[in-house]
Amino acid sequence: MTIYRSITVALMGLLPFAPIAQAQETLGALARPDLEASSITDMGGSLRITLALSQPVPWRIFTLDAPPRLVVDFSKVDWGGQDMSLILRSDHVSDVITGPFLNDWSRMVLTLNRPMLLETAGLLTGQDNGGATLKVQMARTDAETFADQAGAPDGAIVGAAPVPNLPEPRARQTGDRPLIVVLDPGHGGIDPGAEAEGLIEADLMLRFALDLRDVLNATGRFQVVMTRDADVFVPLETRVSVARQAGADVFLSLHADALAEGRASGSTVYTLSVEASDEASRLLAERHDRADLLAGIDLADQDDVIAGVLMDMARLNTTPRAERLAQTLVAGLAERTGDLHKRPRLRAGFSVLKAPDIPSALIELGFISSERDRRRLQSETWRQKAAMGIRDGLVRWAEDDAAEAKLLRQ
Ligand SMILES: [Zn+2]
Repeated sequence: MTIYRSITVALMGLLPFAPIAQAQETLGALARPDLEASSITDMGGSLRITLALSQPVPWRIFTLDAPPRLVVDFSKVDWGGQDMSLILRSDHVSDVITGPFLNDWSRMVLTLNRPMLLETAGLLTGQDNGGATLKVQMARTDAETFADQAGAPDGAIVGAAPVPNLPEPRARQTGDRPLIVVLDPGHGGIDPGAEAEGLIEADLMLRFALDLRDVLNATGRFQVVMTRDADVFVPLETRVSVARQAGADVFLSLHADALAEGRASGSTVYTLSVEASDEASRLLAERHDRADLLAGIDLADQDDVIAGVLMDMARLNTTPRAERLAQTLVAGLAERTGDLHKRPRLRAGFSVLKAPDIPSALIELGFISSERDRRRLQSETWRQKAAMGIRDGLVRWAEDDAAEAKLLRQ
């Protein structure tokens, strides 16, 4: 730690990389990357990153483990849809992603093929053109040293779990007030989700969620809260927290993923299971969680942190209610949109469904990898039908659920 810190200062005479670089004179303005003058290359056993920016901005850099990643945050860089993989010429790095992050930060994440230690990092300023250049050098290290040094500095947002309080026993809805429905358009910001033929899952789901919000609010029986209503990154854990804070009666996550194999198409409704009900479900669950991994958020220990036994008790009550919710959603979607996925009711270990006390479902509206589904997702008419199907399912579920709650009270 001490060694690379002093090297940083000696070589760059500039900003040390931790914890958070101080605001510069251009605070608030957007910097743009110049890919022509940027590179990610190997120099012997070491990794060199040069990122040219149109102006200096506050920044911070750190590594995260499992898997090894390098994270650079800027406040703020407009990536402008530029493909950073174009500058990637390194055996040490398998993947670069960039995008907007929470609270007006932009993030760049490099997935490292092996443990690499930060040796130097600095932002060179004072160039004639007013620009700035981030220079980073990393060297190979062993896994243990890497794990020791990895971790976000104070103030960096990595979704570090505020340990959830034990679930409050929530009063179940009995039909005497509007149901609070939390809609969760999947992905967003740094995490676009699945992409195919120029379509982006995060955008499609936001558009659909806004349609669905209007359809639900129009009934007067529901009050919709969104986990995001813009193209921003929201960690999975935060999505669940939003539902908790809103006092959600129902949580619906909306997705349209891609499958590399097969010709999957049509809608599927998922509920939580520890064991995924099939291989494809397992892959989808993994991919969803990977989005947070890439953004620097680790969910692996989540269940250890939360008091498992009490969670299970809450789930005893919630699981059958979520099962019925999924059934009425499938029925509603089938009636309004016609055919569904050949197996429209599945279970998988999606993290976003893990609120133990809120009936939750994840709707894969279709597969962005399917031409037919892409057409549907872009069709206003189809989206209206799907929204009405979900509304019908929710209305039916709410009535049954309220009736059961009243019975249990007597
Ligand atoms: Zn998705």
